[in-house]
Amino acid sequence: MEIESIVANSALIRAREGGGSKGRSWKWREMLRFPHISQCAELAMSIERDYYSLCVKQPIGKKLFQLFCRSRPNLQTFMSLQDALVDKERKDFGISIIQRFLMRQSNQCVSIVLKHEQSCIQSLEVEPCTDVFHAYLHKHLCGEPFRQYQDSMFFDRFLQWKMVERQPITKQCFRQYRLLGKGGFGEVWACQVRATGMMYACKKLEKTHVKKRRGEAMALNEKQILERLDSRFVVNLVYAYETKHALCMVLTMMSGGDLRFHIYNIGKPGLDRKRVRFYAAEVCCVHFHTVALKHGDRHIRISDLGLAVKLSEGSLVRGRVGTLGYMAPEVIGLEHYGMSADWWGLGCLIYEMTAGQPPFRARGEHPKPPEMERRIQKEQEEYGDKFSQNVKNLCSLLLTKDPKERLGCQRSGGREVQYHPFFRKINFRMLEAGLVEAPFKPDPRLVYCSDVQDIEEFSIVKGVTLDHTDSNFYSKFNTGKVPISWQNEIIETGCFGELNIFGPVGSRSPDLDW
Ligand code: ADP
Ligand code: MG
Ligand code: MG
Repeated sequence: MEIESIVANSALIRAREGGGSKGRSWKWREMLRFPHISQCAELAMSIERDYYSLCVKQPIGKKLFQLFCRSRPNLQTFMSLQDALVDKERKDFGISIIQRFLMRQSNQCVSIVLKHEQSCIQSLEVEPCTDVFHAYLHKHLCGEPFRQYQDSMFFDRFLQWKMVERQPITKQCFRQYRLLGKGGFGEVWACQVRATGMMYACKKLEKTHVKKRRGEAMALNEKQILERLDSRFVVNLVYAYETKHALCMVLTMMSGGDLRFHIYNIGKPGLDRKRVRFYAAEVCCVHFHTVALKHGDRHIRISDLGLAVKLSEGSLVRGRVGTLGYMAPEVIGLEHYGMSADWWGLGCLIYEMTAGQPPFRARGEHPKPPEMERRIQKEQEEYGDKFSQNVKNLCSLLLTKDPKERLGCQRSGGREVQYHPFFRKINFRMLEAGLVEAPFKPDPRLVYCSDVQDIEEFSIVKGVTLDHTDSNFYSKFNTGKVPISWQNEIIETGCFGELNIFGPVGSRSPDLDW
């Protein structure tokens, strides 16, 4: 490894380890300073007073609303109920909740829910996992408690956080570390937020490249889908901003590297069965065009959604998208297709992870697109001895050419894939809740990424001039912080805990603008 690479890697490793408070700028408090409450007046007028958005969905809003409720004696049992619900509801667990909170004789009885006691028990018997409690909880909290909250110092504080959230984002908000990879429109760099110490990956789209290749709609599509998704199985978008030359998306940093890197660059090509099973199961939890996959801390997340299409159940699109190697026959054939192409993609992925090579192409071989298309549509894939009976069976069901016959494309959608014997050992409920231990743990002292000098340099586009006609697109892209992701960052890095101090009880004013 060259010295340049060693230096770049060790700087990244040090930054990652520092994480949290160590990675913060010494001016971090100033960067996150609350404005005086009088400066929040306009926001207070314009912000939508929606209980669900303000008190449930937004992480900082939720915290402040809970702090408010805990400060009110008459709301404390609701908070205890909410705490108890943090664990996933299960039948016997649900019963214990009923006994504790819904039975008249219990001293923690929540009276408002009482009339629903019978229906609660009934729905639990039918479907032990339904969340019957949150609905009742929120039904109560969104009324009078929510009204009182909006008149409290806790809501003032929420507005102050929202003002901090609205501050514009520029390149100066980040420290830049090593180059991680190269995409179609620009480079991807490791970066760290100066104010909080959080590490992310910054995907840059060079404005001239986007313009030359007319990639505006695709860039905006990727950005808008990522910002709406809030999934543990997809990289999250946290910031979108622009510099003079680039549009930037700041994304969850996948420090475990590209899944492709694990399949091909560590030991023999391919992954062991446990990892194949685990990653395949995680991918089952999403329905997207699987273009590239990254391996996160220990879990994988889908990234590179440039070609993702937002489909509602049963809807269809037409058009050729995706990496050619993973393109389904019906996509190549320009037929209408729905989710079926994703199940084909999953088949390709399981095949590639197991075999250490993709299904329709030998290692090192680069057939021309028409030849690839022919093989995908006509050829039967082959299974070597790395395939157990179960994997082979699952792969061949997913790689069924006719989408109508393919596993996953029947009525129950993803469920039938999850019920395949290959996944017998996977508990999908636990997996979805993030409660399953991953089979492989990346070494925090390693950088799972090609050496910096092995990543090709990004070419420069000549003869494209940017003008005012581009600014409409830039302003749609450049929306700054994504509230839920940013609020999570503030909480996870401990900044919320350190900054969200209130003065002596009852005093409302002087402490709010410290
Ligand atoms: P494009 O959409 O232009 O193909 P990608 O999203 O695939 O760009 O990113 C290009 C490369 O950058 C990836 O193959 C990967 O190596 C690296 N990369 C992208 N996103 C991340 C991330 N969130 N964390 C770490 N590396 C990333
Ligand atoms: Mg890519
Ligand atoms: Mg892409």
